[in-house]
Amino acid sequence: MSLGKEQEAFMRDVAKLLNYLHQNGYEVRGGELERTQAQQEIYIKTGKSKTMNSNHLRRCAIDLFIFKNDKWLTQKQELQKIGDFWESLNEKNRWGGNFKNFLDIPHFERR
Ligand SMILES: [Zn+2]
Repeated sequence: MSLGKEQEAFMRDVAKLLNYLHQNGYEVRGGELERTQAQQEIYIKTGKSKTMNSNHLRRCAIDLFIFKNDKWLTQKQELQKIGDFWESLNEKNRWGGNFKNFLDIPHFERR
């Protein structure tokens, strides 16, 4: 699949995720989607990222800040069901809360 087609499929799944969240009483604030090489280098230097292979560089990752009852949810266990839903949409989908060595709770990506 071409990168453009992957980006389109990714955005279709993002739409499903947003609908799922809104239908289940969550509110969402959008974070980063596209990231430049220069920005990624800054994140490496400041410890916010550990890879130059981020899917943000391919526009196949999005950071979402998820709220319930005006409380920002930052704990893995609070968002596990949402991460599981995301990964159930496509076998290439990964939630940052399931990363092995670098927990990244707001991060939803397509590999
Ligand atoms: Zn991210």
